[in-house]
Amino acid sequence: MSEASRSDSVRGGGRATGGRKIGFVGLGIMGGPMAGHLVKAGHEVTGFDLSEASLEKLKAAGGATAGSAAEAVRDKDIVITMLPQDEHVEAVFADVLEHAAEGTLYIDFSTITPKTSRWTATEGAKKGLKVLDAPVSGGEAGAVNAVLSIMVGGSQADFDAALPIFETVGKVVALVGPNGAGQVVKAANQLVVGGTYALVAEAILLMEGLGADAEAGLDVLAGGLAGSRILELKRKSMLERSFAPGFRIDLHHKDMGIILNAARDADVSIPMGALTAQLIAAARAMGHGSLDHSALLLVAEALSGKGSKA
Ligand code: NAD
Repeated sequence: MSEASRSDSVRGGGRATGGRKIGFVGLGIMGGPMAGHLVKAGHEVTGFDLSEASLEKLKAAGGATAGSAAEAVRDKDIVITMLPQDEHVEAVFADVLEHAAEGTLYIDFSTITPKTSRWTATEGAKKGLKVLDAPVSGGEAGAVNAVLSIMVGGSQADFDAALPIFETVGKVVALVGPNGAGQVVKAANQLVVGGTYALVAEAILLMEGLGADAEAGLDVLAGGLAGSRILELKRKSMLERSFAPGFRIDLHHKDMGIILNAARDADVSIPMGALTAQLIAAARAMGHGSLDHSALLLVAEALSGKGSKA
């Protein structure tokens, strides 16, 4: 992509007005608040989720609910999914293919494999759907505060059509290439996030183990070259060993699989990524799959023979 078209495709800030009919499937930690922002922006949002509690939250936020994914996606201008993994997207996308109207804009915010995203684009095009993969970064706080970073794969025209939606739930939005490219950039994001958590965990143990004031130490780290959004947002909860998700270890394990496969496809060696993948796999094996990914600290503790304080 040229510099000119890249800068045309990277937008920040801004909030747009609503008025579109939106079907939203997957109202969990991320999808719930995102759907709520779309309601607030004046869109007519009909949501569906397997969890009754999630449906109730959307109703409380002023949205409508459907009894099935098929019902949620029928006769909409825009269909959105925010689901855990490939298999969930594949299942719901089958309903989108069957029931969404021709010309519907389909935006998948889920983190899945580039291959499945490309498949939705190819199959969608056969039915006259406009398809974008648009995985996000920023965590639960980013979803709640509508400041997500959104990496989008698809055509410029579809990106432009979706921009008001992106600007309602996100802050930094970039078209990063054709269908599937959003997922590739998200894989790179998860590589950095996982590795950073692993190193922050080790830094905490190092400081605690040698009697330094880890809280004051992390404050200093957060303000220097080692600073990161992870240190900014998570240093307090990590020190307190508070690991409520957030972003579940199980989901990051899924993402590490996507990353390792992407590296194979690209003929690229990612030893740090491979190590991070093993630490996350260890967290799952230790029974921490439902905890936040900052629970990599528990793995670091176990490797050092320290008891779990979770
Ligand atoms: P979640 O588990 O909280 O939410 C997923 C929701 O999808 C659940 O409410 C579930 O009931 C629903 N669901 C599953 N199958 C369904 C189906 N067939 N029909 C309808 N609903 C169905 O997960 P989340 O944390 O919101 O993550 C969603 C996606 O966003 C994942 O791909 C994740 O990797 C990605 N993501 C999450 C975060 C985060 O911090 N949580 C950050 C960035 C990206």
